[in-house]
Amino acid sequence: MIETEKTKKDLLSFSFDELEKILLSAGEPRYRAAQIFPQLHRGLSPREMTNVPAKTAAFLEENFNSGLPETVRKLSSRIDGTQKYLFGLRDGNRVETVLMKYRHGNTVCVSSQVGCRMGCVFCASTIGGRVRDLSAGEILGQVIAVRKESGERVDNIVMMGIGEPLDNFDNTLAFLRNVNDSRGINIGFRHVSVSTCGHADGIRRLADEKFPITLSVSLHAHSDAERSAIMPVNKRWGLSELFDACRYWKEKTGRRISFEYTLIKGKNCDRRDAAALAALLVTELRDGEPYPIHVNIIPVNRVKETGLEPPDRKTVMEFCDELERRGVRATVRRTLGPDINASCGQLRRAEAGENG
Ligand code: SAH
Repeated sequence: MIETEKTKKDLLSFSFDELEKILLSAGEPRYRAAQIFPQLHRGLSPREMTNVPAKTAAFLEENFNSGLPETVRKLSSRIDGTQKYLFGLRDGNRVETVLMKYRHGNTVCVSSQVGCRMGCVFCASTIGGRVRDLSAGEILGQVIAVRKESGERVDNIVMMGIGEPLDNFDNTLAFLRNVNDSRGINIGFRHVSVSTCGHADGIRRLADEKFPITLSVSLHAHSDAERSAIMPVNKRWGLSELFDACRYWKEKTGRRISFEYTLIKGKNCDRRDAAALAALLVTELRDGEPYPIHVNIIPVNRVKETGLEPPDRKTVMEFCDELERRGVRATVRRTLGPDINASCGQLRRAEAGENG
C-alpha cells in the first residue's frame, strides 16, 4: 500500500510489539525492534540511528511519520524555571506542553487534543472547539521533545494540557502504555496522572486497565445545577453517575482520586460552598472507611474571553480551612510561570490570533 502523508501512522504511536510485528513482516530480524524502539523514544529518527541499516531506515521513513513535534515557541519563567512550549504538529496545528520544576522532581504536562469539545465556561482550550485528536505518538512526542530541548529529566507526567484525554480514549491508552514501557522512557504509573472533566464512561474503561495511575477529576461545583451551568459534560453524566464511576475506579485500582476545584469569584467560593463540597465528597466516597479525599483548589486563571475573576487570597484560605475542618484535605495549586502565562491553552490562542 502506498501511504500518503495523511494516512501515515506515527512511529511513536506503536507499542514495542506492534513495531516488532511491522519489522518482522518487512523481513527484518527479530532483534531490530529492540534496537529501534529505545532510540525512537530518545527522540532519534530511524535515519539517525547508527546501528540501523539505511534500507530499514528508509522503509520506516517512507511508510510512517518519524520525528518530533517542532518547537514554535519556548518561554521560560524567570521566577520559577517553568518552561512552556508551543509545539507545531505535522499538519500545522499547535499544542502546548509545560515543564514544571518541583522539589520532588520535574513534571511535564501534555496536551491530548487540538482544542476541546467539552465546553467548560472558564477554559481557554475549548473556545474554538475540538480540531482533532492527537495520536498516541504526538502525545508521547511532547514528552520526548521537552526532554530533548530542555536537557532535563522527566519524573512525572500529567495529562492536564489542552483537550479531554478520555474523549481520545484509545490514543490516551496507547500513550500510557508506551510511556510506561521500560524499553522506552520508562515512567512508572505512580508518576502519571490523568485529568478528566468527568467523562464517566472513560473513567470506567480506564479503571478496567488497572493502571496504578492517579486520576484527577475536575469537579468545580457541588450541585448538578451549578455544575451543568459551568461544565456541559455534567448534562451527559451528572454527579451521581460521576461518583458511581469514581467508586468503580477506587474498587478496581485501589488508587486515590484527586479532585480539582476552581474558585470563581462570586460563584462557588464562600464557606457554604466549601461545606457543601465536603459533605458531597464524604457522602459519596467515604462510606464509613478512612478513604483519603484530596481537593486541589485552583483560583481561576483569567482568560480574556470569559471575564471570570479569582477570589481574594482570604476567601481562598477560608475555603480550604472549611474543607479541612470537615475532614477533606485541601491544597491550593501554586501558580507556576506567572510571567509566561503558562496556564490553560492561552498561548495557542494568542498565537492563532497573531497569525490571522
Ligand atoms: N480535560 C481535562 C484536562 C485538561 S484541563 C479536565 O477537564 O480535567 C486541566 C485542569 O485545568 C482542569 O481541572 C480544568 O478544569 C482546569 N482549568 C481549565 N481552565 C481553567 C482556568 N481558566 N482556571 C483554572 N483552572 C482551569
